This record gives sequence, C-alpha cells and structure tokens, in this order.
Amino acid sequence: MATTPPLPARGWAASAADAPLAPITFERRAPRDGDVVIDIDYCGICHSDVHTVRNEWHGTAYPCLPGHEIVGRVREVGPGVIDFKPGDVVGVGCLVDSCRECPSCRRGLEQYCVRGATQTYNWPDPDFDRRTFGGYSTTIVVQERFVLRVPETLDPAAAAPILCAGITTWSPLRKFGAGPGVHVGVAGFGGLGLMAIKLARALGAEVTAITRSPEKGEHAKAAGAHDVVISTEKDDLRRARMSLDLIIDTIPVHHELNPLLKLLRLDGNLVLVGAIEPFDEGLDARLLYLRRSITASAIGGLPETQELLDFCGEHGIVADIETIPMERVNSAYDEIAAGKIDFRYVIDMATL
Ligand SMILES: [Zn+2]
Ligand SMILES: [Zn+2]
Repeated sequence: MATTPPLPARGWAASAADAPLAPITFERRAPRDGDVVIDIDYCGICHSDVHTVRNEWHGTAYPCLPGHEIVGRVREVGPGVIDFKPGDVVGVGCLVDSCRECPSCRRGLEQYCVRGATQTYNWPDPDFDRRTFGGYSTTIVVQERFVLRVPETLDPAAAAPILCAGITTWSPLRKFGAGPGVHVGVAGFGGLGLMAIKLARALGAEVTAITRSPEKGEHAKAAGAHDVVISTEKDDLRRARMSLDLIIDTIPVHHELNPLLKLLRLDGNLVLVGAIEPFDEGLDARLLYLRRSITASAIGGLPETQELLDFCGEHGIVADIETIPMERVNSAYDEIAAGKIDFRYVIDMATL
C-alpha cells in the first residue's frame, strides 16, 4: 500500500525568544483514521501565545508556531470520520489530543488528562521531530474528538476567541452554577473578563464587573455588566461586601485576593482563571469563615466547549475583535504585552 505523503503547510513562527515571528514552510501529517484536515481561516491571538513565543513561562522550544483559537473549514477527512465532511466550519482550541482513557478524559475533561493532554502548540509532537505547531498557519490536521463544530450563524473570526478566552470562563461559570438568582463577579477586564461578562449575563446571572479602571468599567457595562465595582475605591468595595456568589478572577498578574474574598457571601467561590504568576501576598484565612472557597480552573474539555459554541450560536455571542493581516502580528504582540487592549486580535489567514 502506498503511503500518503505529509501535507505541505505555511505559517509564521519564531526562531528564538527575542526573534519576531516570520514566515516558514513545514509539513502536517497525512490524514489517518479519525483525522480531520482543516484549512484555517482565522486564528485569535491569545496572551499565552505572547508568553510562549517570548519564553516567559520557560520551556519553549523553537521554532515556535503558536495559535490555539482556530476557525476554518474541513478540507478532507481520514477514514472513519462520520461527524465532519468537507466544507464544514470547525474550530480547534488549546488541545489536539489526550490519552482518552484516564478518569479526566472519560469525563470529557481532557484538559485535566492525568497523562498530559497534547497542547495545540509547543508540545512534543508524536509525528514529527519538533513541537506541535498551532494555528498561525494555512492548515492543521486534528483527531475528530478534538474538532468542534462552529455554528454557521456566528462570524467565524469573532468566534475564534470562544475557543480559549470563552471556554476558560464558561467552564467555571457552569461548574459553579451561574444562572438566574446567582450573583457573579468578574475581576479583570481583558479578553477573558469580557467573555465572562457576556456569558454570565446570557446565562441569566446578575453580573458585577470588578476593575481598577473607571473607563474599563464603562466598557464592562456596555458588554452587559449590571454593576461595576472600582477596586481602588473603598466605598465601592464596602458597598459590594458579601454580595457575590461567585467571582471569576481573570487578573493575569500578582494581585491581592483578600479584597475579592470580602465580596463573597456564604459559600461563595473565588475561581482563579487568569493567574499565571505565583502568589506572594498573604492570605487572610479569617475570610474563609463564611465557608468561602478559593479554587482554580483551566480552559475546558471538548464536550463543554461544544456546549459553549452551541450556546453562543443560540444567543449570538462572539468576542470583541479586530481582524488583522499576518504581517501585523509582531506589533500586535507588543500591544498585548503592554496590556493596552481589551479586545482580541484575530489574524486573517487569507493574508498569509
Ligand atoms: Zn489561550
Ligand atoms: Zn487522559
């Protein structure tokens, strides 16, 4: 039997931590059983891409080709694929494979695979002598379990950030019961915070945005927040004491948890989804006396990501985005690193 050759692909990758992203050509594996070949139309730029490309979390191997908010169309499918056909609009998020057998995978929580799920980029690639390459590229080949159906009613570019920013907030909103009668606080207002506000609101929850900036507070209200607490205003904090059932904390840098804990009522949960730096602030344990909990949540599993995409399709929810051509990626990285933007850049792959 003749073996099928690998598929040629083009993308933009960084050759070193201090090098800009630049064009490369490479190969994707030929589709095998259960594989879906996707022509990529759009890829969102996540803050994690910037951290990884610049090796700020250490452990980056080069060349590094990032991107895990991928939307495109099915070009062809391998043997045994029945749920997808050429032309379907599909998405790929942060994961492209997992062991599928461990307790986490069996529950559809592949992000917590005990053997370590295969991440979409910068993860050892079982098929090539390199790391996995992500979505800043023309084509990707992914096992169908890790391919998501994107509702055709959604703008595909604006849907891309649902695959990381969206699911990262959706998973804890669902886990902790956000809905009518539940008061949800959203701390921090970047790509994650904005999605959290939109989703919590659409789920029927009362939503309070917590931010340092009155300007971002206004934007949060426009996005659907019922109320805004300016975290540097003592009166605002006092007013909101013991009022929240759940806080989705999307703040990605060092910050004090004590002021947030004070906002929780009995049995309230503070969920960290943005924290990427270790905490060095003292925790006031007395604040847990109201049976408050501090917990954390990472992205989401495949079934809950599909649930989210379907929910967004029903409610017409997408991210706030600006579409850019590929050659603008390096300047976009500088803006994201400077914390300047509260929308998502999405790369139009037609410009690659
Ligand atoms: Zn991400
Ligand atoms: Zn597993």
